[in-house]
Amino acid sequence: MNTKPEIFVYNTLTDKKEKFEPIHPTHVGMYVCGPTVYNDVHLGNCRTFTSFDIIYRYLTFCGYKVRYVRNITDVGHLVDDADEGEDKIAKKAKLENLEPMEVVQRYTNGFHDVMKQLNNISPSIEPSATGHIVEQIAMVQSLITKGLAYEVNGSVYFDVLKYNEIKGDYGKLSGRVLEDLYANTRDLDGQNEKRNSLDFALWKKALPEHIMRWTSPWGDGFPGWHIECSVMSSKYLGETFDIHGGGMDLKFPHHECEIAQSTASFDKIPVKYWLHANMLTVNGARMGKSKGNAILPAQLFEGTHELLDKGYSPMVLRFMMLQTHYRSTMDISKEALLACAKGFNKLLNTYKILQKLSQTEVKEINQKLDEELNQNIEKAFEGMNDDFNTGIAISQLFNISKPINAFFNQQADINTISAKTFERVKTAYSALFTDILGLIDEADENFKALATEMLEIYKKAKEEKQYDKVDAIRSIFKSKGLVIKDMKTGIDWGYEE
Ligand code: AMP
Ligand code: ZN
Repeated sequence: MNTKPEIFVYNTLTDKKEKFEPIHPTHVGMYVCGPTVYNDVHLGNCRTFTSFDIIYRYLTFCGYKVRYVRNITDVGHLVDDADEGEDKIAKKAKLENLEPMEVVQRYTNGFHDVMKQLNNISPSIEPSATGHIVEQIAMVQSLITKGLAYEVNGSVYFDVLKYNEIKGDYGKLSGRVLEDLYANTRDLDGQNEKRNSLDFALWKKALPEHIMRWTSPWGDGFPGWHIECSVMSSKYLGETFDIHGGGMDLKFPHHECEIAQSTASFDKIPVKYWLHANMLTVNGARMGKSKGNAILPAQLFEGTHELLDKGYSPMVLRFMMLQTHYRSTMDISKEALLACAKGFNKLLNTYKILQKLSQTEVKEINQKLDEELNQNIEKAFEGMNDDFNTGIAISQLFNISKPINAFFNQQADINTISAKTFERVKTAYSALFTDILGLIDEADENFKALATEMLEIYKKAKEEKQYDKVDAIRSIFKSKGLVIKDMKTGIDWGYEE
């Protein structure tokens, strides 16, 4: 796309929808906080990463050259998300008697497999925290030099009050004021080392039993959770970049601390647009590893979770996620999944039909229908331009699906829309379905070829009035989730809607 559309994004930092104008007109830098790889990713994590996959896909589709950085947190994220407890990875390694890097590799592989199943595109760079210890130590050191961090007993803390005296923006992203933060700060171990209960760890001293440790100017230790993202985002995207993403739950403390560290280090506003994806919930409660309500992708695909009666494919899950706008919460239920399985198949059938359809000779144009189809396309893209509203894009695909099906079974004449409109519908539908929403036909090519061959046997059996055979073939198709469509115009197979 040469001329880029006007895109509006909801910036959490300003709490407003703003026109998207990247720092460099043709390039976009996007950083998304990746998973902490101490456990299998659950459907909630998948939702957030799929939301940013859409943003990546759409900006790329619009012609931007996007550098998408999504990190792997493999050290520093402590059990209680503040500065206390064991490191999540070290704890798992001890529990399972594995090397920490074995834990990291296992769950990074698992994460990649799931991202592939969901057809999420790999980021341009996937840096890990342990691969950037040197840079993290350098940033901590520079913060000490600037007088915004201090060392106590081998640990280094960020001085929030001092920072705020200079910049005055601590709490801006999460909408928290320092007084409230004080009221809510628990008395934790290590607080006695901090000058102030709001200060957070940049570097932690490693106790003798701690297995993940690096030498530093302050003795053996390991980095705090937030510093990795300031380091890796600035290293690969610059000191100021366009988009920073993550789940809503990361706004505080993680992203708030990241802003403070980066602003203090570079004396610049680090990020132009902060985008936050909302939570996936189960019966209204946020899905979380520690909450005991996590559903794993494999449990959903295989239908082995107690909430489900059967399995659903990765594309049904993706489709379900995309029906809800990324900034709204989304509750998962078997009813919603069932409806999505049908909805996805409907749009997939239309996609397949569109590839088979062609016009012969355009006759008198049905102006109303022609206009409606053009409007459907425009509205779908308007939806995408309005803060990546995939739900609107999908609803327009459903609208397009109706006349296309009518053309296919000749309830309506395909030659009553202009050739230009027909081409536009074909191109836009395919771009929206595959490139932008990232939906694919999951059936294996051999399976599809077999179905097509079997359809020939069905046709022959029908001609020869061998109705037992006809019924038997129909039921085989049904058992595989397929239907045979007997139309005035011919016989075809499709996915069960
Ligand atoms: P974690 O591995 O816990 O660091 O989380 C990885 C990403 O998943 C972060 O961006 C979180 O905000 C996001 N996340 C965690 N739980 C949920 C949830 N229930 N719904 C949506 N995103 C989530
Ligand atoms: Zn992060």
